[in-house]
Amino acid sequence: MVERVTRGQGAGERAPEQAERVSAVREPQPVKAARPAKTVRSPAKAVSRAAPAASAFDKKTIALVYDFDGTLSPRPMQEYSFLPQLGLDPKEFWAECAKVAREHEADPLITYMHLMYRKAREKNLRIDRKDLVAQGAAVELYPGVKEWFDAIGEYVKIRAESSGITLRHYLVSSGLAEIIEGTAIRRHFTNVFASEYWFDAYETPFPKRVITDTGKTQYLFRINKGIEDLGQSINDHMPESERPIPFSNMIYFGDGDTDVPSMALMRKSGGHAIAVHSPGESAKKCQELFRAGRVDFFAPADYSRGSELFRRTCLLLDRMLGDIRVKEEAWEMGHGP
Ligand SMILES: [Mg+2]
Repeated sequence: MVERVTRGQGAGERAPEQAERVSAVREPQPVKAARPAKTVRSPAKAVSRAAPAASAFDKKTIALVYDFDGTLSPRPMQEYSFLPQLGLDPKEFWAECAKVAREHEADPLITYMHLMYRKAREKNLRIDRKDLVAQGAAVELYPGVKEWFDAIGEYVKIRAESSGITLRHYLVSSGLAEIIEGTAIRRHFTNVFASEYWFDAYETPFPKRVITDTGKTQYLFRINKGIEDLGQSINDHMPESERPIPFSNMIYFGDGDTDVPSMALMRKSGGHAIAVHSPGESAKKCQELFRAGRVDFFAPADYSRGSELFRRTCLLLDRMLGDIRVKEEAWEMGHGP
């Protein structure tokens, strides 16, 4: 959906680091209550290195970050249940969103969030938070997505040459957090950053958080700096050495123009990016992204073990794991007796 609504905004090339300069100034705090991440640990080495965290090399968390619509799921998530429930044709709905946004010079994402509920009200349909979460069950996922998280976890576990490698998955989406919450794969994500509604503060649900394409980069910095509590500012300077997940330990997965700021930030900061396209459909957009140096690889969105996407992701993971091992060795030389 976001593709359709935001295309033509010309926002793609804005400096991603703007995300760091957004608002208030507060001391960064440790990550608050992210879900426990999967840890791949060699028991023998873990015992021999039972030193306090600060006295060991600690940049050993890998983060795989995904866009949702068009990347993990073939269509915009609203098309599986919300729009059919209102008897709306998706094409017409997105066209109307784009038209209204253009005419009023409104933010396209706020416009779609508003129009969804204006349409529901016109039909006298009350769709609350609980209903949206339930709609998540109807969202279709690309082949292999459900098994991907465990399969990649196993791969990292087998290939990890240094102990204590932690693998995390994150979602950064302009779609709706409520619908994502109801999908079968929510439990695999350490954190989900997505647009969200306030349901009870107003007569019509009101956007609480809107994640635009450039706004997505803020959440990449949050993962990088370990400031995942959205109540805390992301803007204070933090030296690279203090950031828990270097960009070089991240891969961003996206499918189109709305991912360009995130992909650009990743590539510029030493991270990685992969573009996907619907299996059996044109790879034109991916080829453009590849030629423009936005992504390391592209592949059909088939997440099954052994697919091109799986194989290319594993290649990047191998490089990342080797890199982590090299940095750890150097760190130990620098901190040895
Ligand atoms: Mg997308």
